[in-house]
Amino acid sequence: MAQPGLKRLRQLTARFRVEPGASVKLPKDFDPGFTADFGKDDAGKAQDLLQQGIALLTEYQDRLAAQDTHALLVVLQGLDAAGKDSTIKHVMSGMNPQWVDVHPFKVPSDEELNHDYLWRYEQKLPRRGMIGIFNRSHYEEVLVVRVHPELLDTQHLPADHRDSDIWKQRFKAINAWERYLAENGIQLVKLFLNLSREEQRQRFLARIDKPQKNWKFTAADVRERAHWDAYQKAYADVLTNTSTEWAPWYVIPADHKWFERIAAAAVIVDALVRIDPRYPKATSQQRRELAAARRELLAEG
Ligand code: AMP
Ligand code: MG
Repeated sequence: MAQPGLKRLRQLTARFRVEPGASVKLPKDFDPGFTADFGKDDAGKAQDLLQQGIALLTEYQDRLAAQDTHALLVVLQGLDAAGKDSTIKHVMSGMNPQWVDVHPFKVPSDEELNHDYLWRYEQKLPRRGMIGIFNRSHYEEVLVVRVHPELLDTQHLPADHRDSDIWKQRFKAINAWERYLAENGIQLVKLFLNLSREEQRQRFLARIDKPQKNWKFTAADVRERAHWDAYQKAYADVLTNTSTEWAPWYVIPADHKWFERIAAAAVIVDALVRIDPRYPKATSQQRRELAAARRELLAEG
């Protein structure tokens, strides 16, 4: 079957991938304003490519559900206003909701804090055939918790696992967990929506100035923004330590929403193509049953 846009989309993903073992510096290594070879007058072309990406997602989602051996887990990370919600809304617009499972992760509850830190994420993993989306994820355990280490005090940790090695230990545990998931057919697609400081400022101002956007803004967002450099460092360290062959990171340029959507769709399409799910073939027993049912239905007519 002809699959318009597939080659173009898959080629794009190479620009976003963090090679396992690479040492990442932010903001130096990835430009939040990157738009590939799309110019100012290419809005129509960009829209076409996004639509092709969405059509491919629809097709592959159906095959993933039919095959029922793999799941795809899209991990969305990014600072406030990086576009996590709108990426979900646009990129998933062609999907069958029956086979999609979206989970936002907020400040952990008391129940969650009284378990190991990966517990709550494990609970929300997609079942086979599904596309799961984590809006924030287990990576918050090495991002917000790292930028605000006092949060560790709420986690009921044994004292001998709270030394300066804790972040390295968590990277190791996360890599091992993701490897275990990949070996079980749960493929992660990890997207870091990479926003510039200036674009975040503009989006916050829009959230303040437009009444219908007020609900998206809290004073805490500006307080977090004050930790901008600490977050960039924490993200760079995450990208450096947890981009693996079995679960690589992709850095999605997020300053232009139209391009962010194309880039996110491209990476998800590429992951599905790698899984290459197939419709199951009927067994000879099933074929006999189908033929019998067909005869019965024809006889009725
Ligand atoms: P939002 O995504 O804007 O609705 O905000 C969710 C908030 O929950 C963010 O401020 C996150 O930093 C916070 N959050 C998510 N996961 C964790 C976690 N594991 N520990 C502490 N805070 C978290
Ligand atoms: Mg927020």
